[in-house]
Amino acid sequence: MTAIRTPGVPVIEDGVLLSTNPATGEEVGRFPVADAAEVAATVTRAREAAAWWAALGFAGRRARLLRWRASLANRIEELAELVHRETGKPVAEAIVESAGAIDHVAWAARHARSVLGPRRVGSTLMQIEYASHLEYQPYGVIGVIGPWNYPVLTPLGSIAYALAAGNAVVVKPSEYTPAVAAWLGARFAEAVPEQPVLQTVYGAGDTGAALCRSGVDKLAFTGSTATGKKVMAACAQTLTPVLLECGGKDAMVVDADADPDRAAAAAVWGGLTNAGQTCAGIERVYVADAVYDAFLDRLVDRAARLKVGVEDGSDVGPITMPAQLDVIRRHIADGLAQGGRAVLGGADSVAAPYAYPTILVDVPEDSAAVTEETFGPTLTVTRVRDADEGVRLANASRYGLGGAVFSRRRGMALARQMRSGMTSVNSAISFAGMPTLPFGGVGDSGFGRIHGADGLREFSRPKAITRRRMRSLLPSLTFDRTPKQVAMIARAVKLIHGRPHRRG
Ligand code: NDP
Repeated sequence: MTAIRTPGVPVIEDGVLLSTNPATGEEVGRFPVADAAEVAATVTRAREAAAWWAALGFAGRRARLLRWRASLANRIEELAELVHRETGKPVAEAIVESAGAIDHVAWAARHARSVLGPRRVGSTLMQIEYASHLEYQPYGVIGVIGPWNYPVLTPLGSIAYALAAGNAVVVKPSEYTPAVAAWLGARFAEAVPEQPVLQTVYGAGDTGAALCRSGVDKLAFTGSTATGKKVMAACAQTLTPVLLECGGKDAMVVDADADPDRAAAAAVWGGLTNAGQTCAGIERVYVADAVYDAFLDRLVDRAARLKVGVEDGSDVGPITMPAQLDVIRRHIADGLAQGGRAVLGGADSVAAPYAYPTILVDVPEDSAAVTEETFGPTLTVTRVRDADEGVRLANASRYGLGGAVFSRRRGMALARQMRSGMTSVNSAISFAGMPTLPFGGVGDSGFGRIHGADGLREFSRPKAITRRRMRSLLPSLTFDRTPKQVAMIARAVKLIHGRPHRRG
């Protein structure tokens, strides 16, 4: 193993992945890289474990998942410290991320039976002789490809729901955050020592590609749209279903009657939390003319006070993936070159390993700073006539993950009009840690849902069963029916459905 070349850039050598701290270059851990054969062997082991796990039933899984969640909760500081070392994220932010993730594990464990368990559903008059039963069965083995930006919350958003639904899981963490994945897996193995129900394979993109082709029954991917397309193409070879969470360019719309200070506080946090490396982070703000000046003053004031660094008490940490610094620099440069103005930060704000808070105004809507995912601590702020114009511009993006609206009177109505999977009213990103709500996007942000009841269903197959409960008065599903019975069926259809205005 050679010395570290660039802090934060993982090195793979002699079949070993070396993970480092993006701020200091300190080694965080070493992990064996899995080739295609090892990935396949892991999935084979997972298949056996899946049968055992499924046979435990909802109660058995619930008890074990709640044991895991207790271990994560009791060691949350240790987990947050590791997240801090491997991503550079401030410890406080890592605590908030982990707390949300643990809440998801608990919710998924507790609600799997009520969402997925067997139930009777109604039958219609036309087929009254059959009872209808619905249940949701596990797929078997779920592959999870995770990102580095939220190495606890994001993978667990898939893993916890997949496990609660009765699947085994093989996870390929980002090569930037293998140590966090290993720690989570170790705690799971302590809670569920019997079988390898949750396994981790380490490596770079080719290990992820091998997982796509390994025969997993479904693949959940979080990362860039470009890689999401590759994942979907690879999965198409075996018709493996996919769930894609591909980031976004989320907007906040500030209405004329909004409290400018509260909106500014939410925009600063929503845009700059985790140094802006948040799939559902705020990157664009559209502010109604009436509150624009007051909002911008407060926004700049608040953002300028944030402490950038890796020491205790920092608000904005280093950029986890060094290559991202070039993207942030390019977006700022493009915004300025196209006529935008920096009211905070600007062209010199990127100084590895940090990107300093930057707020751009008057940036044209076709600049890369407005159209592409920046994944850095930057915001564009645009003056609009009113919130409706703000929503129109917010929706003119090929992405559609989350978003926020600030309004006293029209919050819910504006939220409904936003073309995205989730919207926060008078807050930012408040949907991500809410286990009762689904999380996922539209357009280039991907499809499928993690979290909530939809997240549980995402990792299971609906199984429909009809059971005859009496003889048929009007037999239709048989060649034994008589012409007279067929005529009676036609008459029954007219009676039940023939009147346009009758309900039923
Ligand atoms: P990628 O989309 O390249 O990587 C995401 C995950 O996919 C990682 O685990 C990665 O492995 C893996 N991967 C890479 N190539 C393949 C492949 N061909 N088949 C299967 N898996 C693969 O994102 P990056 O980490 O490179 O970040 C690039 C950009 O993506 C960011 O700038 C940001 O805009 C966006 N992004 C969005 C995220 C979100 O939350 N939606 C999260 C992360 C990034 P490895 O890391 O080992 O290469």
